[in-house]
Amino acid sequence: MKKTDVLIIGAASSGAYLAKLLAERGYAVTVIDKLSKEKIGTKYDIFHIETKEFEHFGIPRPVKGDPAWAFEFSREQTADPMDRYPKEGYNPKVGLHMHEYTVLMDEWAESFGAQIVYEAEFREFVFDEGRIIGAKYKRRGRINRIDASVVVDCSGIPAVARRALPDGYGIEKFPLAGDDMFYVVLRYVHLNREADRVTEYSRGWPYFKSWIAPCQDPECAIVGIGACHSFENADRIYGEMLRSISLPEHELRYIERGVTPYRRPPYSFVGDGFVVSGDAACLTKPINGEGVTSGMVHLGIVAATLDEALKNGDTSKKALWKINTEYNKMQGADFSFLRALLTGVVNAASFDEFEYAFESGMISDELLSAGAEGGEFAPAPGVLLNAAYQMLSGIVSGRVSKKTALKNAAGIKALYLAFPDTPERYARWCLEAEKLWKKIGKLR
Ligand SMILES: Cc1cc2nc3c(=O)[nH]c(=O)nc-3n(C[C@H](O)[C@H](O)[C@H](O)COP(=O)(O)OP(=O)(O)OC[C@H]3O[C@@H](n4cnc5c(N)ncnc54)[C@H](O)[C@@H]3O)c2cc1C
Repeated sequence: MKKTDVLIIGAASSGAYLAKLLAERGYAVTVIDKLSKEKIGTKYDIFHIETKEFEHFGIPRPVKGDPAWAFEFSREQTADPMDRYPKEGYNPKVGLHMHEYTVLMDEWAESFGAQIVYEAEFREFVFDEGRIIGAKYKRRGRINRIDASVVVDCSGIPAVARRALPDGYGIEKFPLAGDDMFYVVLRYVHLNREADRVTEYSRGWPYFKSWIAPCQDPECAIVGIGACHSFENADRIYGEMLRSISLPEHELRYIERGVTPYRRPPYSFVGDGFVVSGDAACLTKPINGEGVTSGMVHLGIVAATLDEALKNGDTSKKALWKINTEYNKMQGADFSFLRALLTGVVNAASFDEFEYAFESGMISDELLSAGAEGGEFAPAPGVLLNAAYQMLSGIVSGRVSKKTALKNAAGIKALYLAFPDTPERYARWCLEAEKLWKKIGKLR
């Protein structure tokens, strides 16, 4: 039987980032992933990281010619539902190949001493007197056991370890399915006319939750849509979008479909000898469902707390509780505010109201650039900006009650800012939170 300080389940962006942070502090870190190294990070191809985030999180920054690098662009256009009043902001981003970047992150973690075991599938926890002390995994037909002071679930949407917790372990075990996901469809298209190329900018139509963005091949583009509820709903909204927006003349090359969590995270991320993070903990941005770097905000807190806990030889729920308080009072509170605001306003704002917000100049180039240049990382500046204009558009005709949307958003933020410092008052806090989330409802 093997022993390690920290066992991480999942060797994609979240697992690799945490493994590096802990291995560089001198801990024995083992990461298991059910996929082979050749298959890791193949759930879809292209994703983006804002250029400034590489330095902020200290993560590898691929450059042109590296296998993970696909393209870069810095201009972001946002337009009304009839595409008549586009606005432009500046927010440099790097487009990356998911598989290649995941391999890069894994090798980076290994260079600090983390051990990654591929083709190793989590099966069950190992307990001692009801407390998690390790896990069993299956590799090449054999069951192996590994003991650890802490097990961290970074297994993404399946949340295999969080969902396998015994009842009463202190963390919600909800599955991620149906209304709790954002359904993303990416159409990789060839643009027939050179004049239509989008190598320098992306253009989004928030009313349709759709966009066109650069692709690794400069003659091509990615036309994306992300919608709630189902792929059928995404296809329906895409059809609506095509009736309003004239996309450049193109030929469809291929389609990728993927899902990303779109719901509030579990109220607590910790149990005795256990932590959940990344997509497994629903840490994606409320505005667009992106989760690579928003997960890293949480993982930074996890690493610092585990460092202290492992030094003190105490990885009990109480010792790990700081992860809950620090996260919930920071990005957790901001994301809750945004989720509530977006849900309240977007559910009620009409086509005409969106159109008016752009036409009237309420949404301006200056506003877009100011949002992108802001220094705040939690949440990303563009996130706040989008929420602001969506709210404005809703308020225009008075159809959306400014008071209700803002009251719910402010209320949930205040509650997260008052997250209990110890597990004792947690049950009562959850009851309050549950009541408020029920009022807020879900995005349509
Ligand atoms: C189409 C699409 C586009 C997106 N674009 C962006 C973007 O541009 N920018 C951005 O920041 N985010 C984007 N996102 C979201 C982003 O992909 C996720 O938030 C992020 O990949 C989550 O990383 P993770 O490491 O937490 O989980 P995952 O990447 O899902 O990794 C989980 C790992 O756990 C492993 N695993 C699962 N079960 C087991 C098991 N039983 N045993 C062992 N291992 C297991 C899996 O094999 C996997 O390697 C996008 C999502 C989609 C669907």
